[in-house]
Amino acid sequence: MNDHILIRYGELSLKKSNRNQFIKKINTHIQKALKGFDKLTFEARGLRHYIILNGEDEKNIIPILKKIPGIYSFSVVARCASDIEEIKALALNVLKEKDYANSKFKVDTHRGDKQFPMTSQEITKEVSRELFKNLPGLKADVHNPDFVLNIDVRCEGTFIFTDVHMGLGGFPAGILGKTILMISGGIDSVVAGFEVIKKGMNVEAVHYASPPYTSDMALQKVVDLLEELTIYTEHQSINLHVVPFTKIQDEIYKNVRDDYGITIMRRMMYRIAEKLANKHNALAIVNGENAGQVASQTLESMGVINEVTKLPVIRPLATLDKSDIIEKSIQIGTYPISIRPYEDCCTVFVPKHPQIKPHLDTAIEEENKFDYNTLIDEAIENIQTIRLRTGRKYEVFKKEELF
Ligand code: ATP
Ligand code: MG
Repeated sequence: MNDHILIRYGELSLKKSNRNQFIKKINTHIQKALKGFDKLTFEARGLRHYIILNGEDEKNIIPILKKIPGIYSFSVVARCASDIEEIKALALNVLKEKDYANSKFKVDTHRGDKQFPMTSQEITKEVSRELFKNLPGLKADVHNPDFVLNIDVRCEGTFIFTDVHMGLGGFPAGILGKTILMISGGIDSVVAGFEVIKKGMNVEAVHYASPPYTSDMALQKVVDLLEELTIYTEHQSINLHVVPFTKIQDEIYKNVRDDYGITIMRRMMYRIAEKLANKHNALAIVNGENAGQVASQTLESMGVINEVTKLPVIRPLATLDKSDIIEKSIQIGTYPISIRPYEDCCTVFVPKHPQIKPHLDTAIEEENKFDYNTLIDEAIENIQTIRLRTGRKYEVFKKEELF
């Protein structure tokens, strides 16, 4: 009976001219994500799209749909012919399947088929009468119902449902193009990655690793975090570019004024991210920076750091409270991985008193004390790229093999 899933798309009203392209992209994603379910078929009617279950259990499908960017919401719906007797019978069956006892409900009818011989009010009345007659104990409350019985009368049939599942929202995966995601092993950057993927961006991830100061386990953490994000992406995969960052950090440590160490280190990270962006045709850099959170994230620091690139830098978490970021990371399942106790390269070299108001002139003067261009080129030449895919666990191999 409940054999269809009706998909509703998000944010499409903003982009009327691109609407068809958006919908096509989401539907391709849906079909790809549901590839393993052989019984399913798909039906498109204008802006309405249905997955027809053909006996497949909806419980297996719902969690997958909840991870597809661009789906605003969806409902499991029952379908019958647009005929009042059939509609009454189906509405009754839908309510019988639901645990309606002691709950208040209302009927909401939408008549898309203007040829249908009754008005929506008449349909609502007639169906309600049938329900009250057959289901003693059922209560109506049009102002404050516990649930709504939706009846959608259309030319191709009538669709009845009570529950609406919220999807991710956002834009179809990948529609906005590619970005470079700076990913550490911390709580924030993976959430930032989730946010941009949800908003229709593909990511190439970059991680700066500083063995032996940072361990295999720290890198494994980054791998495990990113693996959690692959499910949301268009191709169910993310490339992780691991940059050998030790030499650059050593040189900074040796040459640069202690309090400017972090500023310079982050300028190097941005420079490498920009070069990677050019190499991979990415249009922006994404990171987990959050205004005011640490010394390198004051507005003054961000300004001096940002100065090395002309690319847009997207900071989805810029204004969130830490507690909100943590909540999001719990929701997407990355929190337990992020709090594993391994060092990342920033924590290893943290000076006692980092500059919270660095000056650009001083930063440039300090970084010119070593030949960073050569080191950056060398680091980029020695990048190791790991392709992470949904459902395949990647074990970080031994350090000797990696660098
Ligand atoms: P996170 O929780 O993501 O580690 P954070 O609050 O610890 O962020 P920082 O350590 O100052 O803040 O880093 C700010 C941002 O810089 C991170 O969110 C991440 O995007 C990027 N970043 C930091 N360390 C690395 C690294 N080793 N490799 C790649 N990107 C990094
Ligand atoms: Mg960090």
